[in-house]
Amino acid sequence: MNTYFHSVTLDKDLCRGCTNCIKRCPTEAIRVRNGKARIIKERCIDCGECIKVCPYRAKKAVTDNLSSINKYKYKIALPAPSLYVQFKNKPDINLILNGLKKIGFDEVFEVARAAELVTLATKKYIAENNVQKPVISSACPAVTRLIKVKFPNLIDNILPLLAPIEIAAKLSLEEAISKTNLPSEDIGVFFITPCAAKVTCSYSPIGVSESKVSGCIPINEIYKALLPVMKNIKDPELIASAGIEGVKWAKNSGESIGLKTENYIAVDGIHDVIKIFEQIDAGFLNDIDFVEASSCVGGCIGGPLTVENPFVAKTKLNSVLDNTKLVPSKVDFTKEIEDAVKWTCPVEFNAVMKLDENMEVALRMLTEIEELYNDLPQIDCGSCGSPSCHAMAEDIVKGYAKKTDCIFKLKEKLKHLAE
Ligand code: SF4
Ligand code: SF4
Repeated sequence: MNTYFHSVTLDKDLCRGCTNCIKRCPTEAIRVRNGKARIIKERCIDCGECIKVCPYRAKKAVTDNLSSINKYKYKIALPAPSLYVQFKNKPDINLILNGLKKIGFDEVFEVARAAELVTLATKKYIAENNVQKPVISSACPAVTRLIKVKFPNLIDNILPLLAPIEIAAKLSLEEAISKTNLPSEDIGVFFITPCAAKVTCSYSPIGVSESKVSGCIPINEIYKALLPVMKNIKDPELIASAGIEGVKWAKNSGESIGLKTENYIAVDGIHDVIKIFEQIDAGFLNDIDFVEASSCVGGCIGGPLTVENPFVAKTKLNSVLDNTKLVPSKVDFTKEIEDAVKWTCPVEFNAVMKLDENMEVALRMLTEIEELYNDLPQIDCGSCGSPSCHAMAEDIVKGYAKKTDCIFKLKEKLKHLAE
């Protein structure tokens, strides 16, 4: 049963059945049947790979739009650090934060501030507990979901701390309630998101039963609204309070650098992440302390809802920090905060790849799959609409496809009939 909301969706009218997306999907969650793609929701981890590769823009991320903030009396923006590197002139971060206030938000709480708290809590977690190494960052929700559906042995390696977005939402909401005396229902907390995975996470959070995020607005929409107003801000109020270490979470390796350990791996791009996880699963990387794995190439700056080329964005980061007048962070790492960043709901394996609940039936199906696979051409051409010949064999056994969906098998059959 699918228990998740999924941000990534298909617009059937735009899909031309080109099959570009089926091979890029890391969990084999897409099939093309009758000329249209279909997402197997239980398998989808909302990584957004299919959004990036679809030439016809048929894959989309469902998000909120800027006007949705007007449902609330008091509006808080939670800008992701990746927002700061989207602009051509590498502006002072204060200018961007002031711009957010000009386009309708009453308050801005930088997610980078919350990231710094996660860094402090992670250092303690790695040092104090008898933890399973390597500890795998829980910051990228697509990666955590990948472990949930594909790597059951690595569940205990996941860092059991909330992602910065959730901590920022919680702290900013508490601040706003004490400042305004409004009930929480009147306060809207909006994450400015670089990716679909974080939208999904605000509906189906990881490590906590209910998210404090009211909605997610994509960076590419906020960017368009910010451009004209930022031009007219002359003396921005100095409100940027996150430190360099928090802002550097925008790119892959930023989180690890903050931990001040050299014994880490920073891997980006979901297919390379899978390769590293296979090695951890096989016991080859137990001597590593920390693995920072980002689904998108470059980290959050490579998210499908950003504007700037991720490689350009990466090189801009230092200039943006040099151009910014930072004021010291107002958040102290108290015992209360240390407890607040911990997961309250454990993450569990989601056996969506399982063939059948009954072991005997599953084994019989597995035998059938192997027999069928041996009879298929094994060239993984994708023209049948399944991502590989092995996935095709599985689809046939499950009753979702027939052998003659394979053009080679169809040709064989026609030739046989003609003879
Ligand atoms: S890439 Fe996938 S979703 Fe896009 S047109 Fe091709 S089959 Fe359809
Ligand atoms: S979002 Fe990722 S997991 Fe989901 S269908 Fe697209 S490529 Fe597959």
